[in-house]
Amino acid sequence: MEKPFRIHSYPLKGGITATPEFAKKKLADFAVNPGLKCGHGCLYCSSGAMLRTHKAFGQLRENPFQFGYAIVDPSTPQRIAKDAVKIKRRGMIQLCTTVDAWAPEAQEHNLGRQCLQAILAQPGWTVRILTKNATVSQDFDLIEQHLNRVLVGLSITAAPDQDRIINILEPNASSIKERMSAMVEAAARGFRTYGMLCPLLPGIADSPEQIDMLVKFAVDCKVEEIFAEPVNPRGPGLKLCQQALQAWDYDTEAKSIEKIRNRKNWSRYVVNLVKHVQQAIRKYTDISILRLLLYPSGLTPEDQAEIQNHDAGVVWL
Ligand code: SF4
Repeated sequence: MEKPFRIHSYPLKGGITATPEFAKKKLADFAVNPGLKCGHGCLYCSSGAMLRTHKAFGQLRENPFQFGYAIVDPSTPQRIAKDAVKIKRRGMIQLCTTVDAWAPEAQEHNLGRQCLQAILAQPGWTVRILTKNATVSQDFDLIEQHLNRVLVGLSITAAPDQDRIINILEPNASSIKERMSAMVEAAARGFRTYGMLCPLLPGIADSPEQIDMLVKFAVDCKVEEIFAEPVNPRGPGLKLCQQALQAWDYDTEAKSIEKIRNRKNWSRYVVNLVKHVQQAIRKYTDISILRLLLYPSGLTPEDQAEIQNHDAGVVWL
C-alpha cells in the first residue's frame, strides 16, 4: 500500500544533461530527471548522496537523506523540448537516473509520457526507460509508435514471493508482480526490453535459486541486455533497510543486511553474487548480454583479484 508523503514543486535548470557516469555503466550518454527526490522512497536509494549539495534541500528545509517527501518539477517537459532541439550530438537518454518519471508525484503531472513525447519529437534521440512503477504501461501506446527508439526496463529487485519485504524497502513503488506484468506486456508488444536486477539484496534476492528465477524471467522477456548490481554499501541506506526490516519482524533478512555492513562481508557477498549471476546467465542465454556493474573500492584485494580472474560480463566502474 502506498505511504503518504509531502510533495514540493521546485523549478530546475537544464533538461537533457550529459552523464559520463552512466555512459561508463553502458546505460546511456544523457540523462533526464523531472525532480530531485523520488517519492518511491526506496530505503537504499543513493540519489540523496548524489544530490545532497543542491540548494533546493536547504530552501525547502528537507534532509536529502530522509524520506516522506518528493521534489518534482512539473515544467520538465518544456525544458527537455528545448534541449532536444538545441543539442546536436544526439544519442541514448536514460529516463531517469536519480528519480523516477513514473513515481506518484510525477504521475500527477503525467511527466513520464510528456518527457517521452518531448524527446521523441526530435530525430536522433533514443530513450532507455528505467522505472519501478508499472503505470509506465499506460504509455505503451506512445512507445508503440517509436518501437526502435525506446528500450523498456522495470527494475525487478526480487522474486514475487518477496513482495511483502519489497513493499517495506520500496514503499511507494509497484509490487514486483505488477512490474513483472508490465515487462511481460512490453515484450509481448514487441518492444525493445532490457533487464535491470538492481540491487540484489543479501538474504532477499541473492541466492542461486532467486537469481536463477530473475534471470530466466528477463530472458523470457527477450531482453537485449541484463544489468545487475550489488547494493551500494555507502551512506545510510543499509542501516535504514536493516532497521525497517527489524521493525516488521523480518529478523533473518535484517541480519543478512546487517552482516554486509562490515566491509569484508560485503566483499564476500559481491564475490558470490557475481558468480551466481554469471552462472544463471550462462544457463539461459549468452554471457555477452551481462552488464554487472561493480565499483571495486569496497572489495578486499583478495576478492577483487578473485573476481578479476573470472570477470565475464563485469563492468568495472
Ligand atoms: S525508484 Fe530509484 S530513484 Fe526512486 S527512490 Fe527508488 S531507487 Fe531512488
